[in-house]
Amino acid sequence: MCAREAMLKQEEQKRRLVSHLLREVGKYESEIIRIRRQIHSNPELAYMEKDTARLVASQLESLGIKAVTGIAGTGVLGILEGSSRGKVVALRADMDALPVEENVNVPFKSRKKGVMHACGHDAHVAMLLGAAMLLAENKQNLCGAVKFFFQPAEEEGGRGGAKPMIEAGVMSKPKVDYVFGLHVVTNYPSGVFALRGGPVMAAPDTFKIRIYGKGGHGSEPHKTIDPIYVSSQVINALQGISARMIDQTQPFAISVCSLHAGSKHNIIPDESILEGTMRTFDEKVRSRAKRYVTRVSDAICRAFGARCETEFKTETYPVTSNNSKLAVKVARSLKEISGTHTVECDPILGAEDFSRFLQKAPGVYYFLGTGNKKKGCVYPNHSARFKVDEDVLKYGAVSLAKLAFEFGSD
Ligand SMILES: [Zn+2]
Ligand SMILES: [Zn+2]
Repeated sequence: MCAREAMLKQEEQKRRLVSHLLREVGKYESEIIRIRRQIHSNPELAYMEKDTARLVASQLESLGIKAVTGIAGTGVLGILEGSSRGKVVALRADMDALPVEENVNVPFKSRKKGVMHACGHDAHVAMLLGAAMLLAENKQNLCGAVKFFFQPAEEEGGRGGAKPMIEAGVMSKPKVDYVFGLHVVTNYPSGVFALRGGPVMAAPDTFKIRIYGKGGHGSEPHKTIDPIYVSSQVINALQGISARMIDQTQPFAISVCSLHAGSKHNIIPDESILEGTMRTFDEKVRSRAKRYVTRVSDAICRAFGARCETEFKTETYPVTSNNSKLAVKVARSLKEISGTHTVECDPILGAEDFSRFLQKAPGVYYFLGTGNKKKGCVYPNHSARFKVDEDVLKYGAVSLAKLAFEFGSD
């Protein structure tokens, strides 16, 4: 067979696989929605996803997929071996809910006061289980192996569940060749896949600057070292990092969001505390900017005779950076799913601990739009009115299964 014929045959096989998956998913759609609603009505906060993990494990086992529970506390790892040799593809869903009181009237509304699946992680779990159904049923066409990561505590910030899952060894034995994950968002219309190569979500850094001065009477500032005045100079100077010290072609944001000092209008206090956030898309820019924050605050404080301590929270999420070559392939693959539309997205300043998996293996993190005005799916993630358009769950499940089939035989 000549190269062109082989290519055409491969294309034909791919086309057949997509239409097969889309037909098959119809069979599972109501089950995927049922699972999502069950999880939605019983949301569990970070590292407390016990019922969700139990449900995940029993679903995987009913499909003949080996499930390991108790990973990183409440995480679940599923492993499905294909029928021939190939690559190991990991698919990830996060499972945790948020401390939000649900304000959506649906029959499957949260039964827990003050806890809600306001970021759509219930949909992520259901879609990944849907992908597991498709993959298990078509195991004879699967090369390599698929690892299913059901991760706890994505919303936890520094202590997110991806890191302890990696430490528990999910990326090795067998070693993961590719890793994929998706997130539902209402800022794209239903059925739109959005992705980009390179950095897609920011690294969020939190800093605290304690400024030590010398308190005294408000009428005699020359006998004091006024930490409030010094703070104002530090806040000004920090903006100089953005304006004059960081390459202007690099996205960078720094904001001081809290300033605490003083107790009365005529007392100059001894100290003040500034807290803020910094967002970057490049690890080099990130570490440089952290050094600048420390250096600038220190120098400004010393100039006025004050002293300061600057600390950054450790263990914050890294930049979520998609492999550029893979992103092109993934976009091509998603475009083949009829009923959907694929677009290139801009980077966003939110953060994700899927970034930690991407540091261990090449992969892609992509978004699935669930925005639908008619159904009231218009409020952003984390809103008490956040609502997922369930009609897109099947597309998410197909996309994950499709990536596992295609990259398994890569
Ligand atoms: Zn979230
Ligand atoms: Zn989320």
